[in-house]
Amino acid sequence: MRIVSPPIRRTVRDLLFCAGLLVASTASAQEEPPSIPLPVFEFHSGFWLNLHHTLYRQARLQRSSAAGANAVTTTAGINNLSPAEARAWNSALAFYTKTYADKDLTVSLEMILIKNQLGDFETCEDLTGVKKKTCDAGLPAQLTQTLESAAPVYRAHLWTDHDRSNRRWISAVAPLVRRNGLDVSHRLAEIYQTPWPRERIRVDVTSFASSTGAYTTLDPLRVTVSATDARNQGAEALEVLFHEASHGIADVVQDAIFRECRQRDKPIPRDLWHALLFYTTGEVIRPLASANASSSPASSAAEVSSSGPSSATSSSGYVPYAVREGLYKRGWENYLRILTQYWQPYLDGRVDFSDAVAHMVSAL
Ligand SMILES: [Zn+2]
Repeated sequence: MRIVSPPIRRTVRDLLFCAGLLVASTASAQEEPPSIPLPVFEFHSGFWLNLHHTLYRQARLQRSSAAGANAVTTTAGINNLSPAEARAWNSALAFYTKTYADKDLTVSLEMILIKNQLGDFETCEDLTGVKKKTCDAGLPAQLTQTLESAAPVYRAHLWTDHDRSNRRWISAVAPLVRRNGLDVSHRLAEIYQTPWPRERIRVDVTSFASSTGAYTTLDPLRVTVSATDARNQGAEALEVLFHEASHGIADVVQDAIFRECRQRDKPIPRDLWHALLFYTTGEVIRPLASANASSSPASSAAEVSSSGPSSATSSSGYVPYAVREGLYKRGWENYLRILTQYWQPYLDGRVDFSDAVAHMVSAL
């Protein structure tokens, strides 16, 4: 798997300093891919980020559990700790509980910066730069010390399983990405009237990835996805990846919705843009899921570029994520009606982008 350390943007670098984090030069260790790189996405299974998410998850479980005292037993495979290992792990958990458990992985700038930094340093054996100068990750001292002391425990008891399931998930989704990735990205860019990112999008695959099973952070655009979450398996994995990536090209449609609302003096609808992302990805992926099932790459490409009407796609048997997870039944019922009635005609090529957005907002 190719490991790339993308340049940290100036703004992010400044923010790291503001957050009290010192940025060191990124790790330069690289491995050449054994095969042709995939299009669109670049998958990583990194030790430090997986450890960070594992500690974060267990700290939250520990905090919310009724017993509250023994989170070590909540993760399979970490029951047989030696006394020294238990001390190191529990001390790491105590630090995460105190420092990070209340912070949201998806919105806390501090958590986002830590995640990105741990991703960039995934090939490093340590984070202090003791063994290799370029591996000084510049993270807060207590966090570095915590991760370093928990690392041997995680490596001995959990990492092998986590890495194996991450790589298994990547292997399962790779053929779907290779077959459909470019076509889907072109189609979504066309729909959102926004160029698709030129660089491949980094996807960090982890055992745990927030309560939603996957999340996206911007500047730089990066996706984190759980390999073990039941919502991310099979053909659905492709939809999850492209839904997440769509967060990076949704500004135009989001701005258009807001502009129409202001012009009509209407309150900006909460999450309509997000429901639109779910709906759109589901409709773009739906015909592919059927084509993939019948192993027909040629027909899948044709269906993407023609973006056939929804009546044709509904026979595929594929149930889009938002329907499957009941999102439209939890306050988005009206959005589904509006999207079906006014956005679908745009996806079918029967109305233009501006008219579709105007119709949706006027129907609110
Ligand atoms: Zn989303």
